[in-house]
Amino acid sequence: MSDRYPNPIGVHGLVWAGSWSENEARFAIEQSAAAGYDVIELLMMDPLSMDVERTRRLLDEYGMKASASLGLAPDTDVSSDDPDVVAAGRRVLSDALSVATDLGLVYLGGVVFGALNKYSAPVTARGRANSIEAVRVLSENGAKAGIPIGLEIVNRYESNLLNTAAQAMDYIQEVGSDNLFVHLDSYHMNIEENDMFQAVLTCGDRLGYVHIGEGHRGYLGTGTVDFHGLFRGMAHIGYTGPITFESFSSAVVDPGLSYTLAIWRNLWSDNVDLARHARGFIDAQVRSAARLQA
Ligand code: MN
Repeated sequence: MSDRYPNPIGVHGLVWAGSWSENEARFAIEQSAAAGYDVIELLMMDPLSMDVERTRRLLDEYGMKASASLGLAPDTDVSSDDPDVVAAGRRVLSDALSVATDLGLVYLGGVVFGALNKYSAPVTARGRANSIEAVRVLSENGAKAGIPIGLEIVNRYESNLLNTAAQAMDYIQEVGSDNLFVHLDSYHMNIEENDMFQAVLTCGDRLGYVHIGEGHRGYLGTGTVDFHGLFRGMAHIGYTGPITFESFSSAVVDPGLSYTLAIWRNLWSDNVDLARHARGFIDAQVRSAARLQA
């Protein structure tokens, strides 16, 4: 954590490695620490595949904290009308929370409210109710484990349920849990929100996690995202939660996520340079926004 501002700064594990063998996990955690990050975000698409003991040991060795994210699949979609599919999704969420608890994570979130998937029809009323009930259970169990739960708001090609901060706030009110937060992502906001600054204000103290990604998901500052508005919004509401750099390239591939996110292009190949650049970029944005706010 910086001595100048309270936000822990994170980096997504897929910047470093497409899978989580001992060597890949060590490289990812070591490089995250070396580049000045406080938190590494672990990919939890398949929670029970996580080697908890080894990951904990490596995190401790490098003095790193971890968060985790996942997106449900069409056959584990808690916003489905099919009770068997919903039940399968609730098991994945329960497994993810159990692994998150064993790992001592600072945050668990993602597209936990439905499938990370391009839908061909709107969500149904039954599907929305199923989603809310599943997320209520996850949030309440997360509260018992001391792990905040986040809804990552993604664009229309990746969810038919929550695409904007305002939709997320309505959904959170329906869930009615104090342990449920909005997870904003600049890449998705760039597609769906009217205004970056206002979207942050819409969340207020319900903002719990932020992904910083460029419009093409490559080097920060080389695309069209209004980072100035986003960081100014975070300073305005006094956001103190994690700010995590997220970037994907065909240079590092997890088939389960990269293909779902349509990562076809090689946006970078030197991930050490990429991560160090992003750390500096985020630092400059946080400090500039704080000066404007002061
Ligand atoms: Mn994201």
